[in-house]
Amino acid sequence: MSLILPHIERMAAYEAGDYLEAGGEALKLNQNESPYPASPKVLEALRGITEEELRRYPDGRSGQLRSALASRFNVEESQVFCGNGSSEIIALLFKLMIAPDSRVEIPDPSFMLYHTAAAVNRIEVVPVPADEDFSIDLDRLGESGEQAIVLVNPHAPTGRLLPAEGIERLLQRFRGLVIVDEAYIDFAVPGASVLPLIGRYSNLVVVRTFSKSYALCGARVGFCVADAAVVAALDKGRDVFNINAVSQKLALAALEDEAYMQHTAEAVRRTRESFCRELAELGFDFIPSQTNFVLCGPPARSGALTARQLYDKLQESGIYVRYLKHPRLVDKLRISIGTDEEMERVLKELRRLTGQG
Ligand SMILES: *Cc1c(COP(=O)(O)O)cnc(C)c1O
Repeated sequence: MSLILPHIERMAAYEAGDYLEAGGEALKLNQNESPYPASPKVLEALRGITEEELRRYPDGRSGQLRSALASRFNVEESQVFCGNGSSEIIALLFKLMIAPDSRVEIPDPSFMLYHTAAAVNRIEVVPVPADEDFSIDLDRLGESGEQAIVLVNPHAPTGRLLPAEGIERLLQRFRGLVIVDEAYIDFAVPGASVLPLIGRYSNLVVVRTFSKSYALCGARVGFCVADAAVVAALDKGRDVFNINAVSQKLALAALEDEAYMQHTAEAVRRTRESFCRELAELGFDFIPSQTNFVLCGPPARSGALTARQLYDKLQESGIYVRYLKHPRLVDKLRISIGTDEEMERVLKELRRLTGQG
């Protein structure tokens, strides 16, 4: 008899982008991390951690952080939940808010962690194929008795923005849980978030993270804004001390330096736009991105390298990008946006590898 539960035995493990030791020569553009350091205020907070803060248990509620987030987003503290990365929040939403054996609709392709959370909790994923150009028809969602819908906005791994009005139309007719993962929203045009709709729709959960725009992937802090009843449910299921004392302080300091985050996000947006112009010059096609990455496909000339070959060659020259195992993404690479200098290094290599350099 196997010790492993059958649904766990059957499921595929989540595959993150390759981890690389910090400080190496390689250019790491495979996990959509920030190329810029976190705010100097964050590094100051890190240096200010006291012996006592390490010796004591942290505030399990992350109360100060919740309170600061509530003021920032103009909601009640009871509508804010903080997690050990938004990954924990995603896991908790599936575990506590969606019944086993029910169905969740997810546009396809999408962020694979949702599939992992579904499989662990014996929830069925109903993939809704994106259109030819990878746009997602929101008006087609929620028509067949699903218990929940998961949207990523701007979408991953395509980078495409979903219209907020479309999400609101969905909320007006769909009564199940609507999770909107806004991990990349700070890189999008202003006004793209549906967070202002919290309070009007009790079934809406907006998930955010300090990982990307606040440059704190390693600290593991995410949050969500939702109806107070949803937050209360998440609080029952979380680890009692889910965010460590150090990370709570760092996230708080990051939040207090909003101007710095906006400044670095703007730098990423500028680099993204110039990188995409250069990609077009090289004959790559790409999806217009509102995130800190670009999903692109190399020119399909005869004799040209395939996306997979390009991925391997880039890696040989120390540039790590992402090649995603999905039937619709076999001819694509997902490249995180670094600094201008870093993207120049990528372009130089791409020019060489496509015989244009
Ligand atoms: C990077 C990312 C996250 C963030 O995960 P954390 O656990 O907060 O680091 C969430 N959702 C999507 C779609 C992402 O790409």
